[in-house]
Parts: sequence; C-alpha cells; structure tokens
Amino acid sequence: MRFDRVVIVDWSAAGTPKTGADSIWIGTADGAGVRTENIPTRRAAEARLMTLAQEALTAGERLLIGPDFNFGAPGGFVRRLTGRSSGLALWDWLTDRVTDTPRNQSNYREVAGQMNAAFGGDGPFWGNGRATETTGLPRTRPALPEGLTDHRVTDLRSRDAGLNPKTIWQLAGAGSVGAQSLTGIPALARLRRALGADCAVWPFEAATAPVVLAEVYAAHLAPDVRALQATGVVRDAAEVSLLASALYRLSEADELALFFAPDCPADTLQEEGWTLGADHGAALRAALPANLTPPRLRDDCFAMPQGVQWVPVDEALARLERALTPVTGTETVVTAAAKGRILAKDCVARRSNPPMPNSAVDGYGFCHGGAMTGVVRLPLVAGRAAAGQPFDGVVPAGHAVRILTGAILPEGVDTVVLEEDCAVDAASVTFDGPVRPRANTRKAGEDVVEGALALAAGHALCAPDLALLSALGVGEVRVHRRLRVGVLSTGDEIISRPDAPAKPHQIYDANRPMLLALARDWECEAVDLGHVADRPDRIKAALDKAAARVDVILTSGGASAGDEDHVSRLLRDRGTLSSWRIAMKPGRPLALALWDGVPVIGLPGNPVAALVCALVFARPAIVRLGGGGWPAPRGFDVPAAFAKSKKAGRREYLRARINDAGEAEVFASEGSGRISGLSWAEGLVELPDEALEITRGTPVRFYPYSSFGLT
Ligand code: AMP
Ligand code: MG
Repeated sequence: MRFDRVVIVDWSAAGTPKTGADSIWIGTADGAGVRTENIPTRRAAEARLMTLAQEALTAGERLLIGPDFNFGAPGGFVRRLTGRSSGLALWDWLTDRVTDTPRNQSNYREVAGQMNAAFGGDGPFWGNGRATETTGLPRTRPALPEGLTDHRVTDLRSRDAGLNPKTIWQLAGAGSVGAQSLTGIPALARLRRALGADCAVWPFEAATAPVVLAEVYAAHLAPDVRALQATGVVRDAAEVSLLASALYRLSEADELALFFAPDCPADTLQEEGWTLGADHGAALRAALPANLTPPRLRDDCFAMPQGVQWVPVDEALARLERALTPVTGTETVVTAAAKGRILAKDCVARRSNPPMPNSAVDGYGFCHGGAMTGVVRLPLVAGRAAAGQPFDGVVPAGHAVRILTGAILPEGVDTVVLEEDCAVDAASVTFDGPVRPRANTRKAGEDVVEGALALAAGHALCAPDLALLSALGVGEVRVHRRLRVGVLSTGDEIISRPDAPAKPHQIYDANRPMLLALARDWECEAVDLGHVADRPDRIKAALDKAAARVDVILTSGGASAGDEDHVSRLLRDRGTLSSWRIAMKPGRPLALALWDGVPVIGLPGNPVAALVCALVFARPAIVRLGGGGWPAPRGFDVPAAFAKSKKAGRREYLRARINDAGEAEVFASEGSGRISGLSWAEGLVELPDEALEITRGTPVRFYPYSSFGLT
C-alpha cells in the first residue's frame, strides 16, 4: 500500500470564515517534503482537495487524503436511519440534507435534530454551541436511544491505546468531533462522486483506487505535537504536518499494509468505518523524522496548576505520563541479543508459523477418504516423513506412511493417526475408526501468518518474544537505544562506600546501589554519578556533568523544602523545578525538574520512601522516556494477615510478603527508616486513597516486586 502523497486535513465546523487555531489546516507530505496550508472556509477546502485529487490523477499518482473526523457512527445507527448497513449510506443521507454556504453557514444542527427525531426523541446527537435553540437537539448529553453506544469499535481501540476519542453524537464542546463529521462527510462525498472509480472511501471500499479517503486521528502523536507546538507552531498545523509526514514515511517504507488490515470483523468495518492507524500509534510515532524524535521535553512540562495542594497518586501518574515523551534514538540489533529492548518499529512476520502443514504427533499419515469407521487397515508405503527430512514422493490414496512430529505432511496426506492407537506389521497399519479429517495435523500459518503484526512498536522484548520473532524469520529488530539513567546521592552524612570507615554521625549510602540496580532491572544503562555533599556548588557541578552524559537523573536526598534541601533549592533557582506533593505514604514531595533539558527525578532520601517512589513514579517515567508504553504494575487481591485502621486522604504502601496461607503479611514496623523491612518484603501492599478498616481476611491489593520490573 503506497502513496505518492499524503494529505491530512484538520477539519472545522466553524460558523464563520476563520484562520489560525481551530480552523481548517491541510498538511501535505510527499517526495518534496512537508508543508501546511490554512484554509478559511469549508467550501475553499473542498475545492482545494478536489484540485489535489485532480493533480494526482493527471500525474498518474496515488493520493491518500486523511481527514480527522469519523467517517461512520457506532453500530446500529446507519441501518435504523437509512435501512442500509454500509457507512456510505450515511454519507448519501447527509449529503442530501446538510447545506453549507461559502461563508461557513451550515444547517448541520437542524439535520442532527432530524436524525434525533428519526430515533423518536432526544438523542443520540447533542450539544449546541450557539445561543439559539435547535429543534430536537438537546444541549446536554441525553440518554442514548435503545441499542446505540457512544463509541465504535475503532474508538474503543484508540481508548485501549490510552487516548480519549469523543463520540460522534457530541456536536459541541472541547475536542468534540460530531460537527466536523456532519459538515465534512458531505464535502468528501461530493469529491467521491466527482472522481467516480478513481476514488475510494476506506474501509467502506477497498483502498485500491488512485485517490483514497481514510479517517485519521492525530491524538496518537500528541507528545510530538506538543513538542512542535513548543517551538511556536499552531497545534492544528503541527498535527497535520506530523501525521502527514509519519504516514508518508510509512508508505515510503512500504509499511502501510497493516494499517489497512485492521483486526476487526468485516461487517463492523463496513458499517462503522475505522480510524487509519488506530492500532498503530507507536508505529506512527516511530515513523516521524529523526529530527523530531526524540523531541525535547518542554521546559514547563512538570508544572502543576497554581493552588494544587495534595495530588492523588493516580492524578500524579496521569500528569507525569502526559509530560513525558521518549528521548532516545533508535538502533538495529540482532534478535538474539534484543532481550529487554523496546521495539521502535512494528515487527511483521517474515514467514508463517508453521511455514508448512505438518504433523502434531508421531504416527501414520494418510488421506482421509470419506467414511473411516470401524477397523481400518491401510498398506504402508516405504520410507518415512520426519522433521527436517521430508518424504519426497506421493502417498497414494488408500495408503499410509510413517510420520513423526514436526514432519511436513507429504503430498497425499492430510490426516495423522497417533502411533499408540495403531497396530503395525511389516506391510500395513491398522487402527479403529472413526478418525476426524485432518486429525493431529497443524495448518500452515495456524499460529501466525506471514505479513501479520507480530509485536508492536513500544513493546519490551522478553525471552518468549525472542522465540516468536526468530520463528517468524525476524533476524534483527529496530529498537530504542538504552536509556542512560544517572544516579546521584546527596547529603553531608552520607559516605559512598560500605567498606570505608564511618564516623558516628555518618551513614552508608544505601540508595545509590539500590537505584542503580533498579535501573539495570529496567534494562537501562545505569550510570553511577556518585555522592555529593550538601553544597550547592558541588551539586551544581554534578548535575552539569550528569546532564551531558545521561538521559535522566535520579537523585535521592535533599529534595524537600528544609534548610539542607539543596537539591530542590538549586533546581528551583537554576532548573525548572516543580515539587509535587503527592498524597501518598511513604513519600515526601517528588521533585521534578529539567536541568539543561535533562529530566531530574528527585526522590526522597529515606530509603523506604526512595524505593516506593522509584517503583511507583520513576519506573513508568523511565520506561516512557526509553520509548516504551506506560507500565502499570499488575497486582492481585489477597486476604490481609494483619489489622489496620487506615485514614482517608492518601494512598499507602506497606512492605509486605505472602505467607504460607496465601495472605499478605506486612512488616512489623511502618517506620520509614527500617531498611530491613524493604529486604524482608517481597512486594508492596497498596491501600486505597479512601479510609479503610482492615481486619484479618479483608482483601488487600498486593504487588510483588516483580510487578515493578524487579528481577
Ligand atoms: P533528606 O531527604 O536528605 O532529608 O534525607 C532523609 C533521610 O534519608 C535522612 O535520614 C538521610 O540521612 C537519609 N538518607 C538520605 N540519603 C540517603 C542514602 N543515599 N542512603 C541512606 N540514607 C539516606
Ligand atoms: Mg539530606
């Protein structure tokens, strides 16, 4: 699936001609590069798209036009409205009714009201951004008519990818898409009619015509869009240029076929449509030009809104996730050496598994000739079929051949009977029927078919993945460079090495070896930045040196707001510090900052708090910076072996392990200086933000250390 040019359209339902933010932008990517245009009205945009399509046809080129609105509605809607079940029926229906003037005055709200009337009431469409009422169109979300849902299958898929697609039913309000669909579909439908067989609307029609229209969703590139916006580009312009660029580059690399083969039943695609790339956000991001990936983090990326006091853990995590984007470039490594690496590109099967039909057991193979009941006796042909030693010959009908597990089925064989179920003599094999046709055989590609997506970009490779990729003939993979994680300890009382003599007022550095080991567990390159005393000039020098060497800096100690908390003071003066007061125990403020553009995660000095904060916050941040997804630890509920009365207002993490009865036991003391408890524990019990009265047997959520990636 290749295109000579990709045109992405950010549509607008504005009621007057408009340019700038929230107006119509067109981004074009082709062999000549990437450019954007800002178009004041829908009429003008429709004309511009027509010109682009005609240019492509004249030049004998293929053109992909990707508008950013839904081409279809959730299942059940079209049939009830039009009596037909293809999404294109909605296109025809709307095109006959929606009007628009050269000055952007559209009747789409009235048409939405008519559609609501066809459903006998208040919905499904809602939302009205203007003062006058529209008959049949409620301003706020009504109850949905029986049988309708808010989202299409493709929207749910985008949700699974962490995005927040809006329902087509919503016509007004931030991020809504419905009005764009109602005004945009008729414009595209006219284009389609004018171009006839030269234009296809995917997925309602096969994407084989020279001009293909397919809906897109720019939110997949949100982090990259933010990075480009930070350089002063209007958001819509950033979206269309980045998306056009990513899709064009994927087309160039001939990697778009998967985008046009979504994992979704054909009738759903036909009715609801599909967002091109809904399952391929990471591949889209990875396709962006190198000078855009990795984008720099924004200076104010860690800023908290004014007045925020205590942030719940989940909100802090969501903020952190929004703030961070991958910062590492990519490299190619051989599959066998790729354990722990994060895929920068989708991996596609180069070969089916199994490549050929073969036998699942040791036994006797033959062609299933209709009724095979009662006692069956078949003469044996000479020779045998074994794995790696194919039988070269044809097994005649009514004959059988000796066959071993993994052997390719010889010509004339489609069924295998287990050797334990057979009696054999020198010349024949005998067994009891009935035998199912194709029994004990494996079909070619029954596991994975050549060309299918094996593993998606962003996936962290583990040992079984190496088996999969190798079986599929994938010998090398494009992965993110390992993230370099620097670890720095601060504090006058700290001495670096446990083998050095310590004065009574000194303590050994416990955090640094722990955090360095965590970074290695997380498949990063761990860089020991040593220990510095609480002297601003020393800390500053250490941070300067670190920022030139590593991708992210973990510090411990000195991160609160006390007299000796030099790290936070320095970051506040010189960097861009934001102290996040997270409603969590243990933990003090988490200091987040950029130092020369390098993110600094300031962990508490107390080793118990340092570990918990590292597991809960630093780990997902580090995985994301290194090109991976946003990992959430997988915990499970077990009965408590303890009693506790927990207050509301903060989340608590207790050092815990599972006893022989399968209950969660917690460390005897919650004292935050008790390092022995960290080591005694095998994981953490998480108590929710709310108040909770725990007695023995109350279910509590246990996260083994391994769920945080500890090995
Ligand atoms: P701070 O955050 O610097 O106020 O430190 C809080 C507590 O953690 C103090 O008792 C420190 O002595 C202790 N602490 C700080 N850094 C470390 C470290 N690297 N290893 C062990 N304990 C530490
Ligand atoms: Mg200190």
